[in-house]
Amino acid sequence: MRSSRISRDTSRILAASRALRQTRSGANAPVHDPSDSELSSVPTDVDSDGDFTTPPPKRRKTVRDTPVKVKYETTEVSLTSLASPKKEAKPKKARRTPAKKVNGADGMVKIEPPANWEEIYALTREMRNENVAPVDTMGCESLADKQRSPRDQRFQTLIALMLSSQTKDTVTAVAMRGMQERMPGGFNLESVLALDPAELNGFINKVGFHNLKTKYIKQTAEILRDKFDSEIPDTIEGLVSLPGVGPKMAYLTMSAAWGRDEGIGVDVHVHRITNLWGWHKTQNPEQTRAMLESWLPKDKWHDINNLLVGFGQTICLPVGRKCGDCKLSERGLCPSAVVGAKKKVKKEAVIKADPEGESVVKEETVVAQVGEVKAEDVDVPVGDIEDIGRAPRQRAVRSKA
Ligand code: SF4
Repeated sequence: MRSSRISRDTSRILAASRALRQTRSGANAPVHDPSDSELSSVPTDVDSDGDFTTPPPKRRKTVRDTPVKVKYETTEVSLTSLASPKKEAKPKKARRTPAKKVNGADGMVKIEPPANWEEIYALTREMRNENVAPVDTMGCESLADKQRSPRDQRFQTLIALMLSSQTKDTVTAVAMRGMQERMPGGFNLESVLALDPAELNGFINKVGFHNLKTKYIKQTAEILRDKFDSEIPDTIEGLVSLPGVGPKMAYLTMSAAWGRDEGIGVDVHVHRITNLWGWHKTQNPEQTRAMLESWLPKDKWHDINNLLVGFGQTICLPVGRKCGDCKLSERGLCPSAVVGAKKKVKKEAVIKADPEGESVVKEETVVAQVGEVKAEDVDVPVGDIEDIGRAPRQRAVRSKA
């Protein structure tokens, strides 16, 4: 009985002291919504007396001074690459791969054609088909009057070739048409024999070396009448015996007038361009002809002249060749291609119409690779006129006073 009273008294005292403690702490404590605080998450516990107790704060772990491994990566950068950004690689220049003499298994010396010659030839033909050249419409082979007899046509072809040396195709064509239209009795051997030199000169006075050509044409007409039965010769020997006719003209005449390809007609373009391609290193058209005939298939002997004359008139010009437009340069097939020269090309393009219907024009500037305009690498000492027996004209040198 007594012990239970003591226990009740003890309980009352404890409750009173707890209430007092709560009142004191509650009066000083700031208003605080525990739900706002991360402390709300602090776990609470109830002790054996039913008291809520807060567990002692966890002691922060001491970070020990353990060494941290750091990996450094180094990239080497050269100073030059920092100073100047990488330049675009220049297209490579093709190597010369000339025709070569090789000893065959049978002990015979053979000529090995230049590497890639077929690809070069086919690409050149492709370019020629895309660009009509003066030779295609006004070449000597096409200038004879088709209304005349075969004999007269052959004579006209020979005269056209004689006029064409050192003369543009357009000028030759005009002179030929003049003779075909106005020569008394029609343009044939007999009419030329009947003309006096001054009259003949009047017909051809726009062509190069017309005085000399007048003389040679008159002499040729007499030789044909006297030695060849008023016909043009059908052999190379016969043709080169005529004044003013050299091998090139003879082979072209044989091909155009008689339909026989007995050799390659090498003119300035054929000589110049095949040297630019690096097929050989020759000093004159005769050497070029011998080299080409040693390996070029016969079915190309007639074609190569027209192919390269037209190519030389349109793309691979004697001065200012257009390497930027040439497929051989693009494919790295020509060792003489002028690579790397840049030229700005302005392009204008209409891109859209505004609501008022007016066009908005946008200008674009395109930088294109083009061939540099420069003088020839291969010297061409060949005027056809030296077939007529003269050395090429020398530029006069003015002496200093
Ligand atoms: S135009 Fe230039 S690239 Fe083309 S064949 Fe002539 S030199 Fe070579």
